[in-house]
Amino acid sequence: MPPWLCNTTLASVDAASTESDFIAEDAMTAEPTADIERFMQRLKERNPHEPEFHQAVQELSETIMGWYLDHDRYVNARILERLTEPDRIITFRVCWEDDSGEVRINRGWRVQFNGAIGPYKGGLRFHPTVTQSVLKFLGFEQIFKNALTGLPMGGGKGGANFDPKGKSDREVMRFCQSFMTELGRHIGENTDVPAGDIGVGAREIGYLFGQYRRLSNAWTGAMTGKAFEYGGSLIRTEATGYGTVYFTREMLATQGDGLDGKTAVISGSGNVAQYCAEKLIELGSKVLTLSDSGGFVHDPDGIDLEKLEWVKALKNERRGRISAYAEQYPSATYHAGQRPWGVTCDLAFPCATQNELDGDDAKTLIDNGVLAVAEGANMPTTFAGVQAFVDAGVLFGPAKAVNAGGVATSGLEQAQNAMRIRWTREEVDARLLSIMQDIHAKCVSFGAERGRPTNYVKGANIAGFQRVAEAMLAQGIS
Ligand code: NDP
Repeated sequence: MPPWLCNTTLASVDAASTESDFIAEDAMTAEPTADIERFMQRLKERNPHEPEFHQAVQELSETIMGWYLDHDRYVNARILERLTEPDRIITFRVCWEDDSGEVRINRGWRVQFNGAIGPYKGGLRFHPTVTQSVLKFLGFEQIFKNALTGLPMGGGKGGANFDPKGKSDREVMRFCQSFMTELGRHIGENTDVPAGDIGVGAREIGYLFGQYRRLSNAWTGAMTGKAFEYGGSLIRTEATGYGTVYFTREMLATQGDGLDGKTAVISGSGNVAQYCAEKLIELGSKVLTLSDSGGFVHDPDGIDLEKLEWVKALKNERRGRISAYAEQYPSATYHAGQRPWGVTCDLAFPCATQNELDGDDAKTLIDNGVLAVAEGANMPTTFAGVQAFVDAGVLFGPAKAVNAGGVATSGLEQAQNAMRIRWTREEVDARLLSIMQDIHAKCVSFGAERGRPTNYVKGANIAGFQRVAEAMLAQGIS
């Protein structure tokens, strides 16, 4: 048995090596619950003050530990312990000058978590809540998400505690240039390929890529999420939202059901929320809500494609607040400081940020008859919320499966850049659909449970973990 499963102290484990780490069976309990607790305790000792990272690892451990302990070759190679330690984390200062000539200082990071199956791949987040813990949780999730896509992409994530909101275009440009001046030496098409995330949209990607191109003196596909004009892929903008809906359609189909005529509640009004809404509307569902960090709007008449175009212009061009929707459309109401989970619906799509749907929210949704919940955002549901949905037999699609369409299409962008070709909208959409169907099938093959809906959390975790574990085993101890 590996050392993190025994009761020795961290110091004694570090001092000893493999053979002495393995302890007698009778000193162990065979119960995964106790094993998980011990493993998590050790992880927290090694990584104090990182609650989001602890939460992501806990969620994975809860569903894979029993299966993992049945695979001696993973246990003996200490795959889980190695997988929870990033390959490296790069931290750097980002200095820039604001429009009034003041010098500003932010902190930047890139977490290169695991590169066993391909170059690191994962977005950059610019938001004041960004910390190392948040980026480690996102990078950790990204490992398994990328593995699920079937494409050659390792897991990484990065960003800065910089808030683009309220900054001028020139300030954002200066910040991005300074950020890339430092990050640039650590990335590359065969090393690490960043993309966007919260606060990093088309504008930021343009400034970041432009600076990278100047620094490297080469045009390479070292970033994805680029505009079509300079190497971006068609459908990349839509991919995460569309993929979320494709996955949901697959989940409903397992119950002989479909999207047509269903009511849907969506949180967020950014990239993922907008295109999740768009695809739902196209496939016949009625979208009732959108939100931002200020509150949510509820439109009982439904947000149709015309209204959604207005929202896109509001958020992407005028950089306005979602409250303006209720002023524009009298059928809607605005609920300041609230989240939309109290609105009765068939389908729920948390598409804003982490931990935005807790155990109480889950209970409300279940009591109101929700059929399926699909995580467009990363880890939007707390552990209690996930448990509640799974226990209640709600079709619950976890982020690493549901929102993998974004990174999958980034992978398709990389492929097009490397081959110096462009695929049509239809070609990319067809590949995205096929990848989402394949991810769904993998989840079912590892997460099917007799007499209950598939446990997609378990299925996604084991399927993703297995691919990376096999690659690590094949590549030796490192
Ligand atoms: P955007 O920046 O485009 O939009 C984020 C949305 O979430 C905005 O409506 C924002 O509101 C809201 N939001 C942000 N922070 C909070 C908060 N603390 N409380 C409530 N609302 C908040 O980001 P994306 O749409 O790209 O990303 C959304 C989620 O999807 C993230 O979890 C991201 O990691 C995940 N994701 C994104 C992918 C992509 O391709 N874009 C791929 C896979 C996952 P406000 O404007 O007020 O800040």
